[in-house]
Amino acid sequence: METLRKQLRAIDQKGYKAYKAIEGTYSFPAFTLAIDHVQGDPFAEPSKIRVIVPRAKTVLAAEWTNTTPRRIRCEDVVARRVHYELRQWPSRVRGSGKSGLVLIDAPGQKVLERTAVLIGDETITVCLSVGLPANGRRILAKEAESIFFEQIPAVIERAVYGLREGDIRPAVELADQQHTIRRYLHEHGLVAFVANGSILPRESGVSDKPLRQGAVPFQSPPELEVAIPVPHRTEPVKGMGIPKGITLIVGGGYHGKSTLLQALEHGVYDHISGDGREFVITDSRAVKIRAEDGRSVAHVDISPFIGMLPYGKETTRFSTENASGSTSQAASMIEMIEAGASAFLIDEDTSATNLFMRDARMQALIAKEAEPITPYIDKARQLFHDYGISTVLVVGGLGDYFEIADVVIKMEQYVPSDVTVEAKRIAANMPSGRKAEGGESFGHIRERIPRPESLNSQKGKKAKVTARGRHVIQYGQTDVLLYALEQLVDDSQTRAIAAALFHIERKGWLDGKKTVRQLLDAIEEQWDRHGLGSVSFRNGHPGELARPRRFELAAALNRLRTLRCSQ
Ligand code: ADP
Ligand code: MG
Repeated sequence: METLRKQLRAIDQKGYKAYKAIEGTYSFPAFTLAIDHVQGDPFAEPSKIRVIVPRAKTVLAAEWTNTTPRRIRCEDVVARRVHYELRQWPSRVRGSGKSGLVLIDAPGQKVLERTAVLIGDETITVCLSVGLPANGRRILAKEAESIFFEQIPAVIERAVYGLREGDIRPAVELADQQHTIRRYLHEHGLVAFVANGSILPRESGVSDKPLRQGAVPFQSPPELEVAIPVPHRTEPVKGMGIPKGITLIVGGGYHGKSTLLQALEHGVYDHISGDGREFVITDSRAVKIRAEDGRSVAHVDISPFIGMLPYGKETTRFSTENASGSTSQAASMIEMIEAGASAFLIDEDTSATNLFMRDARMQALIAKEAEPITPYIDKARQLFHDYGISTVLVVGGLGDYFEIADVVIKMEQYVPSDVTVEAKRIAANMPSGRKAEGGESFGHIRERIPRPESLNSQKGKKAKVTARGRHVIQYGQTDVLLYALEQLVDDSQTRAIAAALFHIERKGWLDGKKTVRQLLDAIEEQWDRHGLGSVSFRNGHPGELARPRRFELAAALNRLRTLRCSQ
């Protein structure tokens, strides 16, 4: 500790580069401080440090972290506390650029596995970013001293040593309950569960926080209500269970259809207490599918949905730099089957109409032979039968779907009701006159093998792989655009995806043999076994990472404009 103080005093007022001298590890009374990476100038990305606390001196007994979901929850609790305490510290912007900033990669409404706090058997590691203070480019050592010797010790004292069982218990119990519901879905043939009393609408289109005023709490229709026994409480959690198969969400405009579907999309992640979606739980392999014209597509067999295109363009190995609404959405579906999805969540609002419907009159006018598209209505059943993939589809205007639905949920003034029987009666009394065009089976999905040149991080003489915000990854010379991924929910997930792609390249995993599915498996196995930070390209501090699902990772790979596949 005194070494650090001495070093800081020795470089006071010197040029910024002299800060490099403080990289290293220091013992403090309450923790070990590792200064892993010092920024090059005051305006650059802040320096990376780790604070390593002996776990035995905290209340975090082993039982609190004896399962992976529990460990992740405890890490989340500590990260939120550190974030809170850092914010309590009077904000003094000291000097130029990022001088004086001390940050943790704070979680939002969701609980994700992240690298901000890592709880091991012996230690609790808190990863921080620090803007080392300077005046212009001149080192302000006194200010740096106050960060390392006052602020950080005080924050760690309160946030980590001040942790009480009463802070951990409710969070861990909620984690246990959410995990139990996830397992229950799996064992009882359900795709999703929405508890009674849940608050689904959000504060605004750009906020993940609950709508505070005038939110109508969710109430399950009696026909779909299930009661799920969960630990740490005597009453089961009651709410709506959406069974596997084909489910429609219908209702008038503005009656809450998309809000329900969005809650299901987000239910693949766990939410914190007070969010309103604590017990909105969706099969974690459910994927939102939407149209995304302009995206690139590489060698995808979209023939189950789209046959021969004009001028004989084949669709069994379909590639384009600029997909249309329908081809983009068809490609996304096939790619997500390849990645291992269990359900598709689809909203008419963001879909290509012609991929979803061809009504009787259009069938009469345009012969099947002249229409490359087989609409989803004629494939959804086969998709479920052949691949076990369920559909939850929001429709306002496509009543022909009544025929193929297993369950029809009507939203009216934000209140759901089960109208399956009525919808089936209507379908029987008013035949659509359509001919099914989908054939007996969905169609074969060819597993693609990406070629080695697909990932090229070189930009000029150096490798360049960076996430810019949530929706753009710069990979070498190309930008990967992720705006359409509604289940990508944290900027740190985007950084983790960038790191994973780079890992695949550097490890030579694109060897011309591994399929997309095998690559996804390999990354997930790496994360499971060696931790999220093991895919990072830093030493020590792993960077600000949160774990994405394999589907968002696959989606990024699929949107790489340099992707080429040999099969
Ligand atoms: P739809 O998709 O049926 O047209 P939306 O789901 O977009 O309707 O909802 C329309 C508006 O109603 C949105 O502003 C949404 O936030 C709000 N809303 C949805 N559900 C609720 C609810 N349960 N309580 C209060 N407001 C809600
Ligand atoms: Mg809508």
